[in-house]
Amino acid sequence: MDGTAPKCSSSLYIDWKTYERNQDQMAKNRARYPGVPRGGAALLSGLVSCGVCGRKMVTGYNDDGREARYSCSWEATTYGGRHCQSISARPVDARVSALVLEAISPSAIEVSLQVAEDIELERQQIHDGWKQRLERADYEIALARRRYEAVDPDNRLVARTLEKDWEAALARGQTLADDHQRTLSQQPERLTEEDKKIIRCLAEDVPSLWKATSTTARDRQTIVRIMLDRVVIQVFGE
Ligand SMILES: [Zn+2]
Repeated sequence: MDGTAPKCSSSLYIDWKTYERNQDQMAKNRARYPGVPRGGAALLSGLVSCGVCGRKMVTGYNDDGREARYSCSWEATTYGGRHCQSISARPVDARVSALVLEAISPSAIEVSLQVAEDIELERQQIHDGWKQRLERADYEIALARRRYEAVDPDNRLVARTLEKDWEAALARGQTLADDHQRTLSQQPERLTEEDKKIIRCLAEDVPSLWKATSTTARDRQTIVRIMLDRVVIQVFGE
């Protein structure tokens, strides 16, 4: 699979111009932050928090830049206190990579899509509830209107009361319709069949892209940042 192009194309891939712009930006960043090594960048740089004190852990590199280490050294560097904890990045990165690939494996994606479908069913039930309430409101409006139209116009007092009833029914119907619209607008977009196809496609692509020799450490970092907010590390023993 190494280095091969993705099997299915989709609109989610960036165009060539964007790719070139990204590469250019990355080169600039590398020049600006010389501490970040070219090939050996730790996967979770900037994402790791300390499970002991809750602070961000920094990523340090040894001399040749190939061995990375996540360290909680804020106390030590700020107050000359003790080093909280540190761990080699390699085993942590390997574990998190495995978890990321597991999460976007086709079978995990199928589970997520099934959950989305269950939510869709629930939404359908809520929709049915709204439909009944809206129909009830329409019925009440029609009834109030018929009563008003049936009254003898000479009987002005009754006519005025029935007209007010009709207006009140119309107002209730309008309020209900507005509430319904607001509810609809707050609902997340539903996945179309096309969306699902793209998601399944990417689930097959990403694991092979992840392992491809053409994929850079920076690419993997980007994927991880899309999927994870943070990683909390607590070191036990050695
Ligand atoms: Zn700490």
